[in-house]
Amino acid sequence: MDKDRKLIIAGNWKMNKTVAEALDLVKGLKRDLSQVKEVDIVVCPPFTALSEVSREIIDSNIRLGAQNMSEHSVGAYTGETAAEFLKEFLVRYVILGHSERRQYQKESDALIAKKAAAAHAASLRPIICVGELLEHREAGQTQTIVDAQLTGSLAGLSSVQLLETIIAYEPVWAIGTGKTATSEQAQEVHASIRAKLADLYDDNTARQVRIQYGGSVKPGNARELMSQPDVDGALVGGAALDARNFSDIINNSI
Ligand code: PEP
Repeated sequence: MDKDRKLIIAGNWKMNKTVAEALDLVKGLKRDLSQVKEVDIVVCPPFTALSEVSREIIDSNIRLGAQNMSEHSVGAYTGETAAEFLKEFLVRYVILGHSERRQYQKESDALIAKKAAAAHAASLRPIICVGELLEHREAGQTQTIVDAQLTGSLAGLSSVQLLETIIAYEPVWAIGTGKTATSEQAQEVHASIRAKLADLYDDNTARQVRIQYGGSVKPGNARELMSQPDVDGALVGGAALDARNFSDIINNSI
């Protein structure tokens, strides 16, 4: 690989896996991936499995992520989870603004920016998701939409914090649909994201930020996607629910 940015491949398990199933999956990943050093590997189980999964991966090369967190610190916010609580389970990453949360919980860019600030305050690394709907792409609005999401979701983050932030480009029409963006489509948007980051920050910072692609990543398309100059990893949904598939994605990306 001629990129100086280390790949980061994360599995978003969404609302799947009981504790027992989560342990099964992560034991399989430990077995298959123990030798991998070239990729930062992250698993993002549901909150209910964080504790057990954390214990299971403690001495491994697999890191823990959460799928969401509150923008607030501890307090009277029923049903919410503060960054401080995630830290108790040695969570290091948190997915913010996934398109399912933007759609079902109506999360806005402004809210995502508050969550990102709270994540950084707790030394968690946010994985901030952006991506266009099919209607946006068909109307030629992909870059406008993604630029606006970046501007809004990164508002207030310093360049030092941006370097500890991962951007996930996830075209909504490719999530869970089996329709993957072509590697050219992914590269085109990733390059435009990097250009926008250079505009919002500076060239040097933008060059170092890791930008993941997400949307029906599978063992068969991982290598081609990951070989694009501005694609620095993947956020994997469906294929991360099976140890063999997720391991194959990682091994095929190296
Ligand atoms: C996701 O949930 O972030 C995702 C990319 O899902 P999938 O890989 O199933 O498309």
